Amino acid sequence: MATEEQIQMVVNSLYDVESCNRCGTRLRFGDLDCPRCGSDIEDNLRDWAERLVDHLLDKDDEN
Ligand SMILES: [Zn+2]
Repeated sequence: MATEEQIQMVVNSLYDVESCNRCGTRLRFGDLDCPRCGSDIEDNLRDWAERLVDHLLDKDDEN
């Protein structure tokens, strides 16, 4: 069961997707490619998801 802290972490992460590798445009959650240059951002999303999961697992270890 998700704790309030975990829920907040996920919600905050939605606003913390990385910038485009190619042109640096800030990406928003839900974008599948860069709105400026059209670059595929799947790698960015994977990095973002990996960080998020790592954070969540770290928190679990503390409890
Ligand atoms: Zn771009």
